[in-house]
Amino acid sequence: MYRPTIGLEVHAELKTKSKMFCDSANDPDVTRPNVNVCPVCLAHPGTLPVINREAVRHILRIGTAVGGALADFTEFDRKSYFYPDIPKGYQISQYEHPLISGGSLAGVAITRVHLEEDTARSTHAGGKSLVDFNRAGIPLMELVTEPVIRDAETAGRFAHELQLLLRTLGAGEANLEKGEMRIEANVSVSADEGVFGTKVEIKNLNSFRSVERAIAFEIDRQSTLIKSGGKVVQETRGWDESKQETFHQRFKEGSADYRYFPEPDLPKLFLSEIPEFSPEVLRASLPELPWERRARYAQAYALKESDAAYLCATTERADFFDAVAAALGNDAAFIARAANYIVSDLAGIYAKRGSESFSTLDAGAFAKLIRLVASGDLSSRGAKDTLAILVEKGGDPESIAREHGLIQSHDTEALRDAVKGVLAGEAKAVGEYRAGKEAALQYLLGKSMKATKGAGNPAILAKLIVEELG
Ligand code: ADP
Ligand code: MG
Repeated sequence: MYRPTIGLEVHAELKTKSKMFCDSANDPDVTRPNVNVCPVCLAHPGTLPVINREAVRHILRIGTAVGGALADFTEFDRKSYFYPDIPKGYQISQYEHPLISGGSLAGVAITRVHLEEDTARSTHAGGKSLVDFNRAGIPLMELVTEPVIRDAETAGRFAHELQLLLRTLGAGEANLEKGEMRIEANVSVSADEGVFGTKVEIKNLNSFRSVERAIAFEIDRQSTLIKSGGKVVQETRGWDESKQETFHQRFKEGSADYRYFPEPDLPKLFLSEIPEFSPEVLRASLPELPWERRARYAQAYALKESDAAYLCATTERADFFDAVAAALGNDAAFIARAANYIVSDLAGIYAKRGSESFSTLDAGAFAKLIRLVASGDLSSRGAKDTLAILVEKGGDPESIAREHGLIQSHDTEALRDAVKGVLAGEAKAVGEYRAGKEAALQYLLGKSMKATKGAGNPAILAKLIVEELG
């Protein structure tokens, strides 16, 4: 058996008004190429960069959220390499003095979080290479974890939690599919607990699923290789989505090849001298964090951990749940019931539709539906049907339920008459009930519900049957 070791390097584009070192717009959704550009991000000679305060603040808030240490002194460095998408011939990054050191997320220790600039985007098609500089200079977070992850699922969980954190902080959208968040996984295996094996870096992981599958594949490949007497070589591998396997891309350059040195065109930062970046101010600026929200839900409403995790998996879903809770007057029993409906019925409806949209579902209407169930006006079956219509068309749940004949009757005299009618025609079952057979009551209840066409609340009907036969 070989013991796997995994460390992640995650890049994420930050949401800011302007780019990292100039005032060109940071708009990741712009479609026309080369419009958000200026002499600075096009690397014209003689231009000078200026540090984007908003981007620094994002990194410091992320670092504060994960419990990392804010640098007292920090600076930017030039990382030199040649590529058409990096017109200066170097990327401005951070090397020895990252903004954040340490911290942890989803139980995984973080080494550092630093700030750099994104590269331009190159496209190779029809024998031509095209470069779009809209992305050049967009602020980019790089987060590096310690080599402490032992399995693919933990790596996937970490990546999910980081995406959720960035969204919660308003630091970035972090969509993997759009390249707003890019994950590189370093994987090694070793037969000896105390010694690290040679690591391989995997790139082009464009979804959470590919992160997990690529890591699992790589653990297998390396273990098999060593077992058969082979040796793992340090290299960068890509992930082939169609073949579901990793493949050799290139042998990795060492950091010496980048000739890092401090960026002479930018000032050094002494963070402790900047009041708005003090730890207290940053901490006070944080919203409720994903793990805090999960803990609050689990505690306040006695929810299962998995249900709390489901409710908090997207900020839209959690915000919807909070709005429902408020509409239910923060009554814990009602809210627990609402949570159940979101986790089961609503999740089922959205799964069938293939998409989830809380912007079109009114929290007040949903809360009203929950009250109708709680009061016995709606059966759980009726609630399911009403909810499906509510999601599809909106409207008032009570009107919808009434229109479709789903409201249960509280008119006990009418229900009693219906029950009497049923009992009169079921002499055998009535006899069995009198003889003490529990199943007979269920049978008579079923008949009564049928007779009242779903308008009878089962609890009320059962009570009436017992009374009539008592
Ligand atoms: P490099 O200098 O090659 O970039 P680093 O020490 O900076 O290597 O680590 C880069 C990433 O690789 C980090 O996420 C780290 O956790 C991970 N890593 C380091 N050593 C190993 C290893 N033996 N197996 C798996 N991952 C590792
Ligand atoms: Mg590195």
